[in-house]
Amino acid sequence: MSDLAHHLDAVHQRIALAAQRAGRDPRDITLLAVSKTFPADDVRAASAAGQRAFGENYVQESIAKVEALADLRASIEWHFIGPLQSNKTRPVAQHFDWVHSVDRLKIAQRLSEQRPDELAPLNVCLQVNVSGEASKSGVTIDEAAGVAREIAALPKLRLRGLMSIPEPAGDLEAQRVPHRQLRELYEQLRADGLALDTLSMGMSADLEAAVLEGATIVRVGTAIFGARDYSH
Ligand SMILES: *Cc1c(COP(=O)(O)O)cnc(C)c1O
Repeated sequence: MSDLAHHLDAVHQRIALAAQRAGRDPRDITLLAVSKTFPADDVRAASAAGQRAFGENYVQESIAKVEALADLRASIEWHFIGPLQSNKTRPVAQHFDWVHSVDRLKIAQRLSEQRPDELAPLNVCLQVNVSGEASKSGVTIDEAAGVAREIAALPKLRLRGLMSIPEPAGDLEAQRVPHRQLRELYEQLRADGLALDTLSMGMSADLEAAVLEGATIVRVGTAIFGARDYSH
């Protein structure tokens, strides 16, 4: 087995153990392999090892990869998870299946307008800044219900749920706190009538905490592909 296949296996085992501890079915948790900065060939190898969903952060880099892997398009689900400027939404609306990082209504409106008619609605998550830090993107917990309702009404989008990127925290209990806050918000929005089914939370360092708090998608880069090199 290749290193990559071993790493994928190990991450699936972490998810399965955490799910067991939470009394959840591991099949209810999707592993999103975050391939940003890694070449298309690594995505190809992960796909050959059975991985289906891939996450990307940078528009130019990701479109080049989607195009290089056009032959695998039917067996890959592409998820955009990075910061999105409003002048860069069009290629994302044209090439991706999901966007997790919708952090304001204007971005959602543009994605809806630019989603090609022949494609299924774009699946989106509303990014929530759970800790409320001014430096981070995402709506506040207080703004979330209003923005979610407006996004849910857009014709070419399907609002699936919520996403967050909490500050790194040391131990499991500390890691669970922001994930629990996002899950509570999610439950409240569902109780208010929004048809959500996705909680995108947890990365290499805190996926167990996220699964224990109800994550349905964990976004894992380093534990699958190795450390990222941003020098080129
Ligand atoms: C890079 C990134 C990840 C993956 O992080 P790792 O720590 O490498 O697992 C997950 N989510 C987002 C939004 C990212 O930008």
